[in-house]
Amino acid sequence: MIDMHCHLDLYHEPHKVVNICRQKNMYVLSVTTTPKAWSGTKMLVNGNDRINTSLGLHPQLAHERYNELDIFDDILPKARFIGEVGLDGGKNYRRHYKQQKDVFRHILTSTQRASGRIMTIHSQYAASDVLDELENYPDACIPILHWFTGNKNELKRAISQGCWFSVGPAMLRAQRGRNLFINMPRDRIISETDGPFAMFNRKPLMPWNVNLVFSVISKLWGESEKVVQERIFNNFQNILKISKNAIL
Ligand code: MN
Repeated sequence: MIDMHCHLDLYHEPHKVVNICRQKNMYVLSVTTTPKAWSGTKMLVNGNDRINTSLGLHPQLAHERYNELDIFDDILPKARFIGEVGLDGGKNYRRHYKQQKDVFRHILTSTQRASGRIMTIHSQYAASDVLDELENYPDACIPILHWFTGNKNELKRAISQGCWFSVGPAMLRAQRGRNLFINMPRDRIISETDGPFAMFNRKPLMPWNVNLVFSVISKLWGESEKVVQERIFNNFQNILKISKNAIL
């Protein structure tokens, strides 16, 4: 099982969550929302090479945490994965949009200079702008658009720009999410939960709840759950391979 985007440090009892992930032999990308959170979050999973901690600065926090960009740059040589980063054009965050863009551009400049990273990207109400930025920094990352909510044209553009997509139970519960999903290339899909932010039946998703997505995908692709899981695991191995060969 692979959860390519969850916030381990934000669960009530992170150590318990990590222990269960370990018992289940899960692969997890533990994303952070501020550079200061990286070291502590990484410490949660010390000694587990299936759980990676990514270095992030969430767009919803960009206006409060832009002064941590120096810390971001200091940690960058040690971080193989970047996220959660990106842009959020929603009504509560729009007024900080300029600052969000400055922060995102700084991050893309730094990762491009550092030969690129795998990056998990937030693009809510900002898909076109995120794609513009990615176009301007072509060697900054292998982009994974997490919980993509753009329109069909933006999806087409994202595919042609080489984006990957991480999808979870909450995204695929909505018809709109499913309509986008069926147009995403099967060889660029990875599973995620976005827990504990993302909820399912009014409960925060746990990393192992990622299995809820396999049955939905199985129906949408017309393939058995076993084949779906194999495909997603192959995709996961592929993106790691590509990142090793091409940029890291
Ligand atoms: Mn998230």
